[in-house]
Amino acid sequence: MNNLTTYRPIIGLEIHVELSTISKMFCGCSASWFGKKPNTNTCPVCLAMPGALPVPNQKAIEDSILLALSLNCKINSISKFDRKHYFYHDLPKGYQISQYDQPFGENGYMDVYCENNTIKRFRIKRVHLEEDTGKLSHINDVSLVDFNRAGVPLVEIVTEPDFTNALDVKKFLDQLQQTVRFLKISSADMEKGSMRLEPNISVQIPGEKTLPKYKVEVKNINSFRFAYNAINFEIERQIEILKNNKIPIQETRGYNEKLSQTVSQRTKEEAHDYRYFPEPDIPPFIFNKTYIDSLKKNIPELPFSKMKYYIQSFHIKSEDAHTIAFNKELSDFFEKVINHITKQLKKENIQITDMECKIASQIVNKKINENQALSDIYTQIISHYAIKTTDDKEILPLIKTIVSNHNDEVLSYKKGKTNVIGVFIGLILKEYKKPLDVQKLKSLIIDYLDNL
Ligand code: ZN
Ligand code: MN
Repeated sequence: MNNLTTYRPIIGLEIHVELSTISKMFCGCSASWFGKKPNTNTCPVCLAMPGALPVPNQKAIEDSILLALSLNCKINSISKFDRKHYFYHDLPKGYQISQYDQPFGENGYMDVYCENNTIKRFRIKRVHLEEDTGKLSHINDVSLVDFNRAGVPLVEIVTEPDFTNALDVKKFLDQLQQTVRFLKISSADMEKGSMRLEPNISVQIPGEKTLPKYKVEVKNINSFRFAYNAINFEIERQIEILKNNKIPIQETRGYNEKLSQTVSQRTKEEAHDYRYFPEPDIPPFIFNKTYIDSLKKNIPELPFSKMKYYIQSFHIKSEDAHTIAFNKELSDFFEKVINHITKQLKKENIQITDMECKIASQIVNKKINENQALSDIYTQIISHYAIKTTDDKEILPLIKTIVSNHNDEVLSYKKGKTNVIGVFIGLILKEYKKPLDVQKLKSLIIDYLDNL
């Protein structure tokens, strides 16, 4: 809630994600444009030659719906493409094929693991599909245009203005990126431009209850760090203006990474400026429930629910669970190790208390890694933690002998000095020479002492 003393930032996000389909959105050209010789990856459709007609890419549509479902959106049973008109040198048709009032997905949300182990819900307004533009490069006094990227499928995710600080935005982006990667629909690489962020930022003055009457959109952000810096710069810039009883101009600003500043680019268009109308060359889509349900089956377990599962079933502490679940390679590795070790332990009739927690912390603390053979990892874990259940019979007599030779320590224990257990553990480890699960050994010693 906005109180009477604070300036409260209001941040919404528009995120574009380039889909890694084989072909472009409306033609057969390759969708992987990166690093190719300029204008070699084009055809009459993506160059907007007269009479060329678009044919939608089914895989791109399914990928967008998959993402929308993963973001808990409602999938519209009737959807369509629209033309969004504007003039720019990288847009050969003079309009972009996009979606206006009937996007594939609407009204979703994403639960995000934020600072201090808190979980926050950010609402997703819509998920729609459109086509990418060409790429301009400005060299000296000339501008060059490369249409290799024109027509590459692009999903746009729009959030509600639910963010109040840059850190939450960073956490959200991180989780969205991981989600997209788990779905295997894009590399979602900000540095390569396959994931692009345009935050819109405004600030409520102290006591203001409604959304501010202006907002500033920031473009050209190509890393998570720049996103964080750009948002913080913009918040401070706007607060300065508001403190002088003025209202910041509604505009689009670019982020200058060398100056760590945002700079004015142009005043912002309104939706009606684009003269949206239904794309006449592509009929509307009708999706029935069976079709949507069949797509739903392709959604793998996503990082957030993986994290919840690790915490609930394995009792892994939330920081470790988060570190592993949100890293695809790490979680695959973790699960592979768990499977292998569980099988081996069963075979050899060995038990390790809280095995998953122990392995998780070994992975997080880099004590074991992907370059090791599973058999070596097993040996390592065993030598750290293992005790053979059948060996209780061997251990108990040992405990008995050692305890009976240390009457003073037993007396101290009975008087409440529990740290003598450490002494016994040390002596037993020294005597037994084989790997033991220290936690289990400790409980055996305590049991024994308590029953004396
Ligand atoms: Zn083409
Ligand atoms: Mn867009």
